[in-house]
Amino acid sequence: MKIDLHCHSSYSDGRLTPQELLDRAHNMQVDVLALTDHDTVDGVQELKDHQQQCKRKLAVIAGVELSTSWHGFDIHIVGLNVDHNDPVFLSRLAQQSQSRQERALKIANKLEKAGVPDVYETAKSFAGVGQITRAHFARALVKLNAVSSLEDAFKKYLGKGKKAHVKPEWISIEEAVTWIQDAGGQAVLAHPGHYDMTAKWLRRLVAEFALSGGDGIEANHMHLAASKRELLVELAIEHQLLASTGSDFHYPSRWTELGKSLAISERLTPVWHDWKNLSELNNRIGN
Ligand code: AMP
Ligand code: MN
Ligand code: MN
Ligand code: MN
Repeated sequence: MKIDLHCHSSYSDGRLTPQELLDRAHNMQVDVLALTDHDTVDGVQELKDHQQQCKRKLAVIAGVELSTSWHGFDIHIVGLNVDHNDPVFLSRLAQQSQSRQERALKIANKLEKAGVPDVYETAKSFAGVGQITRAHFARALVKLNAVSSLEDAFKKYLGKGKKAHVKPEWISIEEAVTWIQDAGGQAVLAHPGHYDMTAKWLRRLVAEFALSGGDGIEANHMHLAASKRELLVELAIEHQLLASTGSDFHYPSRWTELGKSLAISERLTPVWHDWKNLSELNNRIGN
């Protein structure tokens, strides 16, 4: 089975609607897809409705990717099989959304001071009804010819320590784990190999995540060096964490695709090992 447990829709910084995402996943022969938008579950119902309507043989998992702050790093925690209608969870997410909105205004202010005015409106129009992210500011900066690429927008303005960087006020890792588990989900440390930190910090991060009650880590993700992958396998075993995997797909490009590079080590227990919705799917597919 092809299991992709990390991707984004237009409800955050992905560029496909939940419907388009499902159709694309189906074309890529994905069997299980979790939608994990930044700090929102707003796209989940649309994804489920679309799946019901077109009766695709594809299981849809309600997910989220929560932003947290840890020792000055932005650490992302994916929640899988969360109850996307849970009122407590929704009110907690509204808090994060508020932090995003406040940060966006501060980013716009800093950009203005750095000589790039009127970026907010353009960024907001890219975000639409979805969560506003730095990726939307990056697109706006490209559109306004302030930079020539998204990468440059982060290098020059939006990245840590750059001219328009605003220290985010995200929740802690412990809070993210609690929010997810209170909503009935499993908490997974997202793309641990992609944080700009030394192996020593990475070991500390995984240890603290496990101590906070985290359930699993993404043990494989796109463009991960073999040595890093080996380290993640070791850390997952050491801390008895389950293994998850996902493409972190945002939009069609040369670099990422739904359902790609998802294999995880046989030494690890997959996060889906006891999922009921998966065994039902298996029966339906006839595996
Ligand atoms: P935020 O959560 O608002 O801080 O926005 C972070 C998002 O921006 C990430 O989820 C990525 O999708 C995107 N991003 C981060 N760094 C880069 C980069 N160097 N180039 C392009 N996109 C990036
Ligand atoms: Mn993103
Ligand atoms: Mn992330
Ligand atoms: Mn992501």
